[in-house]
Amino acid sequence: MMSVYDQKPWVHHYGTVPEEIDCQPVPLYDIIARWKNCDDRIAIVLEDKDVTYQALWNMVQRVAEGLRRLGVKPRDRVALILPNSLAFVQAYFATLLVGATVVALNPLYTLPELTKLLQDAEPTALIVPPEMVAKVPPTLLPLPWPVVMASANNDPKSEQEAKNVYPTASMLTQWLDLPPIEDDDVPAIDPQKDLALLQYTGGTTGWPKGAMLTHWNLLANAEQSRLWMANLLSPTQDTVLIALPLFHAYAMTVGMNLGLLIGARLVLMPRFNPEQAALWIARTKPTLFPGAPTMYVALTQYALAHDLDLTSIKGCISGSAPLPRSVQENFEKLTHGRIVEGYGLTEASPVTHCQPLWPVDYQAPGIGLPYPSTAVRIVDNMGKDVEPGEVGELIIQGPQVMQGYWRRPEETSEVLKEGWLYTGDLATMDQEGFFAIQDRKKDLIIYSGFNVYPREVEEVLYHHPAVKEACVVGVPDAYHGERVKAYIVPKAGVTPDLEDIDRFCQQNLASYKRPRSYQVVDQLPKSAIGKILRRELARQAAEDQGEI
Ligand code: AMP
Repeated sequence: MMSVYDQKPWVHHYGTVPEEIDCQPVPLYDIIARWKNCDDRIAIVLEDKDVTYQALWNMVQRVAEGLRRLGVKPRDRVALILPNSLAFVQAYFATLLVGATVVALNPLYTLPELTKLLQDAEPTALIVPPEMVAKVPPTLLPLPWPVVMASANNDPKSEQEAKNVYPTASMLTQWLDLPPIEDDDVPAIDPQKDLALLQYTGGTTGWPKGAMLTHWNLLANAEQSRLWMANLLSPTQDTVLIALPLFHAYAMTVGMNLGLLIGARLVLMPRFNPEQAALWIARTKPTLFPGAPTMYVALTQYALAHDLDLTSIKGCISGSAPLPRSVQENFEKLTHGRIVEGYGLTEASPVTHCQPLWPVDYQAPGIGLPYPSTAVRIVDNMGKDVEPGEVGELIIQGPQVMQGYWRRPEETSEVLKEGWLYTGDLATMDQEGFFAIQDRKKDLIIYSGFNVYPREVEEVLYHHPAVKEACVVGVPDAYHGERVKAYIVPKAGVTPDLEDIDRFCQQNLASYKRPRSYQVVDQLPKSAIGKILRRELARQAAEDQGEI
C-alpha cells in the first residue's frame, strides 16, 4: 500500500522549485573551472585585492601541481587544518583536481584530538596555517606526514617564518610559482564513486567517524540549495558571506560550493564575531548569509549593527539547531532579508530540509519541506512508517546521502539500511508535508551550533587521576542553546580539584567541548545492567537550573 510519504505531500508547496534536480554528475572542481573564461568575474573578495575566477582557477591548478610533486596520488587523503581563507579554497579544489580526498579538520582542535583523527584518515599530506607551527613546536609535532604551510591570504613572510621553525615544510605561496598541472596529470574521476570529502562527525554513536562524501554528493546538495533559493538569486550578482567554518559540510555546501556554482563572490570571515560581521556586511554587501542561530542572535543583539546598513542581505538559511521565531523576526527587521530554518546532517552533505523562501499559503514551524530529489519517511523502531503527527525517526534517501563511514562497515550498516540514511533525529510530519524535529535520538549536545559528543568529553575526564566515573550532559543555555555540564564521581578518598580537572579538559579538548560546569556526586544513576542513565541526569541538570 502506498504510504503518505510516497505521496510526497510537501511537493505540493514547492511553488516554482522543480521536484527533481537536473544536473550532470561532474567533478566538483568544475564549479570553478566553468567560469574561467569570464575574466573579470570576482570569486573571492579580499581586503587588499579581489581574486577573479580566472585567477582562482589558475592558482588551483598550480597548487595541484605542488601536491602532485609532493607525491599526492588519486584517492589519497589530504588534511586541511585551515581557517576560512583563500588558502582553504585553493587547497580544497587542488586536492580534488589531483583526484585526492579532502579531510577538513577544525584548526582549533588540540593536538591529541587532531592526532586521533589523522591516524584514522591516514592522509598523505597536511596543509596547515603557519600559526599552528608557532603554537606547536616541531618537537611536539610528531607527524609522519609532509606538512604544507598555507597562510590565510598567501602571505609568503609568515609561511617562511614557520618554515624556519619547521624546515621540512613546503610553502603554498611557492607552489603558486609552479606551472599549472598538465591535463595528462589530472586523473579521470567518477563523480558518483570518487570521494571528495571525508568529514568527521560523531554520527549517532558519538565516536568521530569520517563520513564519505563523493563529488556528486556535494555537487547535488549545492544544486538542491541553488534550486531552493532560486527566486532570491540574481545571476552573477550575488555575494555570499561565509562566517561559518568551512571545515564543516554546512559552510562548505551552502556557502562555498553554492556560491561558486552560481558564480558569486565569496567573502570569507576567518572567525565570526558580531562587530566584525556587521562591519563586513556593511562594507562587502553580501546578499546571502548562511549561518547558525547563535550568529543571528549575536548580530541582532549587537547595538551598533542597528546603525549600519545591513539591507544588502536577501536570504539566509539557518542550520544546525532550531531557529527561534523571535530571532527570525529580529533579524528580518535588521536586514529586510528572509531568514529561514534548514536542517541537515554531515552524512547528507548536509542539507535535507528547509523552510520555503518563496511566498506560501501554508506554513508550520520547524524544518520545513524536503529538498528536491529527496525522499523522506518517519519510521518507528520496527522501521514501519508512522502516521502524520506521530513521532518517529527521520530517514532520508537522495543524491546527497553519503557512501558510508570510512573504514567502519559496522557503524555504516547501523545508519545506512536498504538505501535509507537513519538520521537518529526524532521528527514529525504534518498532513501538509511540513517537518519538525522533536528530539535527538542521539545524545549530541549542540553548543553554539558545534556538536559536542558526551562520550568524547567523558573519555578525557576518565583519564584524569581523580576521576572514577563521569557523565556529561547538555543543559539549556539562553545564548549557546546548550552547554556542557559534567557530573563526576571521584576516586575513593580523593577530594577532586575541579580547577585542575578543568585545566586538564582545556589541554585535551577544543574550547567548545569543555564542560562549563562540574558537579561532584557520590554516584551516577544507572540502569539494572549498569548503564549510566544520561537522560535522567540531563533532566536533573535542567531541573536544577529551573529550566523544566
Ligand atoms: P552535523 O552532522 O554536525 O551537521 O549535525 C547534525 C545534527 O544537528 C542533526 O542530526 C540534528 O540533530 C541537528 N540539527 C541540525 N539542524 C537542526 C535543526 N534545524 N533543528 C534541530 N536540530 C538540528
